[in-house]
Amino acid sequence: MSSFRIAAFKETLSRKPLIIERNGETSSEIFGSQVFNQSIMKEFLTDEAYNSIILAIEKGEKIQRDTADLIASSMKQWAISKGATHYTHWFQPLTGATAEKHDAFFDPIEGGRAIDKFEGNQLVQQEPDASSFPSGGIRNTFEARGYTAWDPSSPAFIFGDTLCIPTIFVSYTGEALDNKTPLLKALHAVDKAATSVCQYFDKHVNRVIATLGWEQEYFLVDSALYNARPDLVMCERTLFGHAPAKGQQLDDHYFGSIPERAASFMRELEIQSLKLGIPVKTRHNEVAPNQFECAPVFEEANLAVDHNSLIMDLMDKIARRHNFRVLLHEKPFAGINGSGKHNNWSLCTNTGVNLLSPGKTPKSNLQFLTFFVNTIAAVNQYADLLRSSIASAGNDHRLGANEAPPAIISIFIGKQLTKSLHELEVKVKKGKMTPEDKTDLKLNVVGKIPEILLDNTDRNRTSPFAFTGNKFEFRAVGSTANCALPMMVLNTIMAEQLNKFKKEVDALINKGNGKDEAIFKVLRSTIISSKDILFEGNNYGDAWVKEAKKRGLNNIKTTPYALAEFKSKKSVDLFTSNNVMSEKEIQARYEIYLEQYQMKIQIESRIIADIARNHIIPTAINYQNKLIENVKGLKELMDEKTYKKLSKEQISMITEISERISSIMSDVNEMTNQRRKANKILDVEKRAKAYCNRVLPLFDKIRYQTDKLELLINDEDWPLPKFRELLFTK
Ligand code: ADP
Ligand code: MG
Repeated sequence: MSSFRIAAFKETLSRKPLIIERNGETSSEIFGSQVFNQSIMKEFLTDEAYNSIILAIEKGEKIQRDTADLIASSMKQWAISKGATHYTHWFQPLTGATAEKHDAFFDPIEGGRAIDKFEGNQLVQQEPDASSFPSGGIRNTFEARGYTAWDPSSPAFIFGDTLCIPTIFVSYTGEALDNKTPLLKALHAVDKAATSVCQYFDKHVNRVIATLGWEQEYFLVDSALYNARPDLVMCERTLFGHAPAKGQQLDDHYFGSIPERAASFMRELEIQSLKLGIPVKTRHNEVAPNQFECAPVFEEANLAVDHNSLIMDLMDKIARRHNFRVLLHEKPFAGINGSGKHNNWSLCTNTGVNLLSPGKTPKSNLQFLTFFVNTIAAVNQYADLLRSSIASAGNDHRLGANEAPPAIISIFIGKQLTKSLHELEVKVKKGKMTPEDKTDLKLNVVGKIPEILLDNTDRNRTSPFAFTGNKFEFRAVGSTANCALPMMVLNTIMAEQLNKFKKEVDALINKGNGKDEAIFKVLRSTIISSKDILFEGNNYGDAWVKEAKKRGLNNIKTTPYALAEFKSKKSVDLFTSNNVMSEKEIQARYEIYLEQYQMKIQIESRIIADIARNHIIPTAINYQNKLIENVKGLKELMDEKTYKKLSKEQISMITEISERISSIMSDVNEMTNQRRKANKILDVEKRAKAYCNRVLPLFDKIRYQTDKLELLINDEDWPLPKFRELLFTK
């Protein structure tokens, strides 16, 4: 091993797990202790202030200035009692991370004294220096003006010594510059549309809440080994490295015992998450070595999105304390399972009914079928848009790789529901239906859907979008993603589809059909027109790729092409008519996503060139020189015949190393040239495509050769910690 690698490896082996104590507190005792939640508000606020914040949460009503002052003052009092000294507006800019600008509570006043100050003004609005956040041309950077505004629907919390206030982030001209703003609008749109459809079934429904339960996958790598890999440090993924002899073939890691150090990391993550009100529940090992998952109980979607952003921050901070680095990247190690973030999604009424859960009666099942079929139709209509919502440079490595869902969007619903939809399609008559027809449908189709579906457990794990008994699970989301984007798209397309459904049903009712008959008829035609998206088979197989093509389903493998749908006319109509984003906002986002993609590839490409030229090739040359010296020595010692016989293999090794070095050098040069050419392209779309089509393909070519060299060159000289060290050190 190189001295650098030895040092890192030794450090890793000497680590001891941190002891994480709970101080005798149970999970329920610590849960939410750092959150200004509804019960704390009730305690700290006047009735009037409390009621006004509840109205703001549930109905989006405005909070008056003097009430805001009251709330701010109580919030401050609570935060200071908890030891907080600072406050910040906490928001999710389009960089994908979270951002904060900290201010002290304290304010100097005359006479060299100071007071604790935090008023309605500071709570409601703040102006962060926004010039460095991406805005896709909306806000001129020299203006650097955007402001954050309080989102009362997500409670404030204390992180470290700082009171964090969840906010939206918008430009002075009113355009959204963050992930949360359009999400809130989409949630509002789906609330309205779903509530009005619910009226067919239950007049008591006046609000529908989208729910999200995410499952976050990640890797843990020792920090010393991590620091010895420039690719991990700079790109969060390895750009080189031969797969280890023992990979995940044995599958002995899944649900395996969690190594002690990782377990203590998880224990602390769990405690800190619970304090912040994140209801984490499961922790287990994933398929790949050193890969793990954490998943909370589902929550209202906006809160769940905030909690996911928060936990990604938490993971990073806590991992460092345990001498780990957490890798959230979708594909940190080629040839090893990647990481995703399943988004479990459903809709729930204010009356507590999960609209995607089959019920006990034919009536509740008809409501279930209505929402179920409309979800299928929405995904069928907007499959490409859904694909674009999960597009990123990292996820491109994962989608379509053998353990992740492919880039083709399809839906799995299971045998029982496939049968129910088929029966519905066959039994609903186009013309006037007799009372017997309707009774038969209600009793023998709708009434037969069991409350708990049998194939609920026997799930098709290869599907990108699967119905799992009482929710849909969008599995193609990448592990680094901010769930706000796929959730914004999913809820918007659902709102659109539900509105369309409502119109069609109302039109039939106006023509004299009974309500149930009208619903049956529209469900039937919706099922017929959405069939192509349903697929029960193996999504990983080549047969599906062919079949999908026949059905006209797209298989868009790379981000710049997937993103195109985001700003298509169809999408612009969708977003604008549902009041989720303006055309300007869509265009800005499109450019930002493209730019982010291109910048990622650009950085990776530079790091590849750096490591290849400055680490790998010099190492290969050194080793080659050793071999050359050796062969020369043999020649001196041996007679011609023996020398010829015994030096053959070594000479061919020298030749092989030379060939590989030369191939790496020429590909690195070619990559650098292609990058230069691409950088000259002004149009961001064309530039991103040039990176995708001309720069990126060289990564694999270069890597192929370097990984071969890793196998040839003596271990002592190899500069980078190997996969087996990164993944199997415990
Ligand atoms: P897995 O996919 O690993 O088998 P589970 O099926 O146990 O996991 O559940 C996955 C996630 O589904 C959990 O995070 C849970 O909170 C979430 N979930 C359950 N019900 C709902 C719902 N109605 N809405 C949204 N998410 C839900
Ligand atoms: Mg899952």
